[in-house]
Amino acid sequence: MDERKSISVVVPVFNEEESLWELIRRCLAVCRGLGKPFELVLVNDGSSDGSAEIITHAAAKNPGDLVGVLLNRNYGQHAAIMAGFEASRGDMVVTLDADLQNPPEELPKLVEKLEAGADVVGSIRVPRQDNAFRRVSSWIINRVTARATGVSMRDYGCMLRGYSRQIVAAMLQCHERSTFIPVLANSFAHTTAEVEVEHARRAAGGSKYGLWKLINLQFDLLTSMTTFPLRLLSVLGACMSLLGVGFGLMILIMRLVYGSEWAAQGVFTLFAILFMFVGAQFVAMGLLGEYIGRIYYDVRARPRYFVHEVVGSSRLAAESKAGRLKGEGRKV
Ligand code: UDP
Ligand code: MG
Repeated sequence: MDERKSISVVVPVFNEEESLWELIRRCLAVCRGLGKPFELVLVNDGSSDGSAEIITHAAAKNPGDLVGVLLNRNYGQHAAIMAGFEASRGDMVVTLDADLQNPPEELPKLVEKLEAGADVVGSIRVPRQDNAFRRVSSWIINRVTARATGVSMRDYGCMLRGYSRQIVAAMLQCHERSTFIPVLANSFAHTTAEVEVEHARRAAGGSKYGLWKLINLQFDLLTSMTTFPLRLLSVLGACMSLLGVGFGLMILIMRLVYGSEWAAQGVFTLFAILFMFVGAQFVAMGLLGEYIGRIYYDVRARPRYFVHEVVGSSRLAAESKAGRLKGEGRKV
């Protein structure tokens, strides 16, 4: 275990001027206590209050320890964290919310797990200090996310998280605009760990997530994970078409048995035909969806895999390299 592994702490900041000074003070105190090289990266996500000035001021006061990344407008929490990742240089990167709901004093727990070899360290908020609506929606999201990523973590919403440099580098190579970092990280993670952390009520101000921003985030989460909803359209359409065919058959039989009055002079038959067409339309839409889904995956151009390490050496590789060199020599 290398005692001198360095740490970057990345914090997205959006209109948090009330708690910012305390956050900086507590983070720096914890980092200094770790006895390792560290940097605190504060990303101002286009705040309209005095957060940017505070960050600039604090960076001047703590040269070497604090880096401020100031974004020109509000891009959202996850984009801000990405900007922080880009600026970070540590061997281990820990993210944290600026509102002090995750106490910075819990940082060493995450660092310990990262040092023990985990790629991604999540945290579980106990006891969680949010309202019932947020808790229930989180519960659903955690179940769905665990299923879709195949990595079971109990709390995807908590942003007090740690990542190895390798995972951060992998995430930085993903250029899609809407990202949900915990899911993205887990899609590259090999070993994950979780620690229980304290959760406090917001120290100052209100949540920066209104209803609309929250809905937006859930869609980012869903579409970043899977194109399954698109496929659902085809399945739905096929079911409707089958239902229409069944309906038509039923009407035919009933008509043969009870005579033409039964079918209300053909109105029911029309319904049956309508059902079939509507179903067919859904199938077609679903099919389009499948294509769009694939285009979506390609446009994102995510790297397909990451090599952790290469061991041994191949004679073939060495020979082909030598051959290539000889070939080049002839050409010259
Ligand atoms: N945040 C951000 N950009 C945004 C919204 C939020 O950088 O557009 C930051 C915010 O400053 C905080 C963190 O993301 O550090 C979490 O936000 P908040 O505490 O409002 O979310 P909640 O705790 O309600 O989930
Ligand atoms: Mg919060």
